[in-house]
Amino acid sequence: MSQQLTAYYGEFLISPIPLELSVIEPCSMGCLYCFAVLGDRHHAAKSGKSKARNGSKQAVNLLADYQNRNTLEAQLLRDGYPVLISNRTDPFSLSNRTAAIPIMRLMTELEIPIAFQTKGFSRPDDMPEVLEFLKPSCWYISIAFNDDDLRAKIELGAPSLGDRLRLIETLREHGHSVVVGINPCVPEWLPRPLELVRQIKAAGAEGAWVQCLHLSSSQEKQLKPRERESLTQALIDRAKKKQYDPADLECFKTVRSLCQENGLEVYSSGQGCRSGFWEIYRRHYPKTFPTMQDFINLCHDEGLEKGAIVTFDDFHELMSPFLPEGELSVGHYLGATAHNVIRDIPNWTNRFTYDALLAMIWDEPRYKLSPARCEALSYALAEGEDGNALIVDENGMPCMAFNPEPCGWGDLYEAIAMIEELPELSALEAG
Ligand code: SF4
Repeated sequence: MSQQLTAYYGEFLISPIPLELSVIEPCSMGCLYCFAVLGDRHHAAKSGKSKARNGSKQAVNLLADYQNRNTLEAQLLRDGYPVLISNRTDPFSLSNRTAAIPIMRLMTELEIPIAFQTKGFSRPDDMPEVLEFLKPSCWYISIAFNDDDLRAKIELGAPSLGDRLRLIETLREHGHSVVVGINPCVPEWLPRPLELVRQIKAAGAEGAWVQCLHLSSSQEKQLKPRERESLTQALIDRAKKKQYDPADLECFKTVRSLCQENGLEVYSSGQGCRSGFWEIYRRHYPKTFPTMQDFINLCHDEGLEKGAIVTFDDFHELMSPFLPEGELSVGHYLGATAHNVIRDIPNWTNRFTYDALLAMIWDEPRYKLSPARCEALSYALAEGEDGNALIVDENGMPCMAFNPEPCGWGDLYEAIAMIEELPELSALEAG
């Protein structure tokens, strides 16, 4: 049976929401850049069949029995953590709505909190029905265009930009919180970024997640000729680069600055500035997971200066109280994001504690979750007789140096690209 209500493995220490439910894949909204749609086509090209999944049965079975099951997901549900609907499909798309909405209703009856990620309601009639039973929640609504004609060529079956702005207003009137995904942030799609920032702010959004477009080579191969034409080969070629193209980086930085200047809390993965982006979520959910942003915020709030040393104990002390205790199947967090690293670890087991997971992440820059991939942190080095050496604490754990001033996104992506090439376990300076 396909597993669609799962731990949110890929977003550990990024999002405070630790579970995700993607009911039916692939999504019918038809966005040309969608990683899930292109990933499904890639799978079908390799294996001869689509991995199209209907997870409603698995989700309903788990919701019926989560008080008794001995799985990570059941434990997280029992502990009262929220579920994100959805990361890999849109719950209100035509393909999902009839299966997803009853599951949301069931979760609400079970008092399981829900956070949303959507482009809006494909069937406008669904909105009053859903808002009638839902508790106030946090919604992430993506809007990445100025003009709806262009939007309709790239996000073929998604609601119009006007509908999405009206949805933000309606959600706010009903006591929900909204952040917007200016994601992907593409200069050709957003020639007037200030106009969009003002529109989303006026509609009531409180935060913005800004991220450049990225496409892998295998995703690019799955684009059909007409899709390639709509996206343009020039954009596709830029999106495949490991280090972002100057034009994309410029647009990304401009959009981030405009959001900040207009009072939106901003988030981009790896950012080193203080941000209240995830606090918007925490208003609605009493139990959440820790985020790397929490640690960055702590460093700023304590007034740490450039070069100040931070230790694993500092990190652990902040993160650990958010997390469940005991041995659970947490190894999948590393399996999902760093398969190439864990396959070399002798006697690997998936079952250990979140505290052990935090230590592994701190100690290994090749894990995508490593703090060293953040703009504000790098491994602390001291000059030794044989050159630079890592500074370690009394337990042998590497220390990090904090930098309150952003190092520049281009430098960060260059450092991360270097880490990707590392041949063996070793801690190197990154952020
Ligand atoms: S709405 Fe989201 S999940 Fe659906 S096709 Fe578009 S990007 Fe993919």
